[in-house]
Amino acid sequence: MKDSLVVQKQGLFYKPGNFYIDPLRPVPVALITHAHGDHARSGSGEYITSEKNAALLRRRVGSDAKITSYPYGEPFILNNSQISFHPAGHILGSSQIRCESNSYVTLISGDYKRQEDQTADPFETIPCDLFVTEATFGLPIYNWPTVETSTHEILKWWQQNAKDGFASILFCYALGKAQRILQMIKNHHQTGPVYVHGSIQAFNTLYQEEGFDFSFATSPLDNPKNFDYSNALILAPPSTFRSVWMKRFLPCKTAFASGWSLVRGNRRRSGYDKGLVLSDHADWKDLLRTIKETKAKKVLVTHGYEQLLSRYLKEELGIDAKPLAGYGFIPNEEE
Ligand SMILES: [Zn+2]
Ligand SMILES: [Zn+2]
Repeated sequence: MKDSLVVQKQGLFYKPGNFYIDPLRPVPVALITHAHGDHARSGSGEYITSEKNAALLRRRVGSDAKITSYPYGEPFILNNSQISFHPAGHILGSSQIRCESNSYVTLISGDYKRQEDQTADPFETIPCDLFVTEATFGLPIYNWPTVETSTHEILKWWQQNAKDGFASILFCYALGKAQRILQMIKNHHQTGPVYVHGSIQAFNTLYQEEGFDFSFATSPLDNPKNFDYSNALILAPPSTFRSVWMKRFLPCKTAFASGWSLVRGNRRRSGYDKGLVLSDHADWKDLLRTIKETKAKKVLVTHGYEQLLSRYLKEELGIDAKPLAGYGFIPNEEE
């Protein structure tokens, strides 16, 4: 159905289903792709999400929120539409939302990636008529190293710091990225103990309910005051960089794990000792591959480099594409 998707001041609205997707403001019915802060906000009347996202979403929007959840791939009816959630590969429970009405399929990607991540169900390719794609890293310069390369880099950096007598503090987003890293290093670390900040610990507990075991990563708060962290790896959210909390680990080396680390200017301005390239978003070639695989006749681009990517799709690939403004995105807030 043409024009079934519109942007209102509350956010992205799917008319046939009478609901919003990742709304910016409280609405009666909100369908949520995943639990990052720029997608899941409190105050809505009812939330509908994937089963694996339900606990994470509850943590984000509050214990009295009304949350209904469905397993991946299970269709349900909302007004005049059939809806289903499908893995987006971004973080635990992240979904693409498939909306069908009058045989016209609209697919909203949320945030997604194609790279291996043992903490998220792998991205599923869904054929559609209209694809709403994110473009956080929609520039040709963004080309991710392999997961093996990134894992090796983390382990090597940690080992070298330990040898030189420095604690290694790796800054990363508390939800998704931290658990992905813990899973990556889990069976490969011999250098020393692993600690996590309380905000990461809180999400780890929710991952535990889904069968992940991060019990090897404990809280530094349990240690005595002058504890020696020189062979330790500490995972912490960017908000603790240069904080009082961080002081206990001195002397230390710092790194930031993010897709943004690929650009040298970002690395220099950030103040971290090292930039580790590891992203939970599709890079340029995976964005193009995914868009082609959906066979969508129309593409709306949001969440980042929407102008550039939509122009490229139109001019180079002949795809009917245009930017879609107004679908929540706060750059750098949660990657
Ligand atoms: Zn996200
Ligand atoms: Zn996002």
